[in-house]
Amino acid sequence: MAKVILVLSDALRDDRAAEHMSFLEHLVETRRATRYKVRGELPTMSRPCYEAVHTGVAAMEHGITSNHVVRLSRMPSIFSVAHAAGRVTAASAYCWFSELYNRAPFDMVDDREVDDPALPIQHGRFYNTDDYPDFEVFTAGAALVRKFAPDYLLIHPMATDYLGERHGGDSYEYRHQVTIQDNMLASAWPEWEARGYTLLVTGDHGIGPDRLHGGTRPDMREVPLYVIAPHAAGRGNTGITVSQLQIAPTVCALLGVPVPLTMQQPPIAA
Ligand SMILES: [Zn+2]
Repeated sequence: MAKVILVLSDALRDDRAAEHMSFLEHLVETRRATRYKVRGELPTMSRPCYEAVHTGVAAMEHGITSNHVVRLSRMPSIFSVAHAAGRVTAASAYCWFSELYNRAPFDMVDDREVDDPALPIQHGRFYNTDDYPDFEVFTAGAALVRKFAPDYLLIHPMATDYLGERHGGDSYEYRHQVTIQDNMLASAWPEWEARGYTLLVTGDHGIGPDRLHGGTRPDMREVPLYVIAPHAAGRGNTGITVSQLQIAPTVCALLGVPVPLTMQQPPIAA
């Protein structure tokens, strides 16, 4: 039974991660981490992909078909399954996660900071501006680790999406932010490893040089997946492409909670 931190970096492209996340790639190179390429779900939009990552189900089935579908998830998710199994859940994430798993629509005062054992995301720290600093998102996540020792923690920074949509996925601004996120992970990982966490790092979708996502091109669709287990060897760069729908059952399997029947893709052999 592992504890899991999932860092879902918004608009983190597979190739840009490989080029600019040299801490994570160091762990890959030294076979402390296992790296995959993820074939992201369509549509390559944020809210549908958040739901796909957390339910393991495609958009036509989970029904969150666009960013404008504002309602609670109707599918079993990592949060709901872990919560039902008596595990502690937490998130430092954009307000759309609060809307998918806790309450919809988002109330920027009531829902900004929640500690409620009855909610699927029991300890939530939610932001609602797209330019919210990644540093604050990571620090809030790190504070949740120390305060509540959650079994499942989602950390969702989105400056990569914000800068990618303004300057493009080839820009200095976007690439630099990818490295900043890598640096934050490099700082945080030793403590998280000591606390026994398995770390997964992935993206919801990519972003093109033309500042676009929402299409089907590889730069919009291909995101990385790094899996780092505490005090254990990894397999390096596997060169394997996995489905984004495999992430939810993989996290459930790591947590040791039942994988719901709706998650039909097999867990990734990490
Ligand atoms: Zn996104």
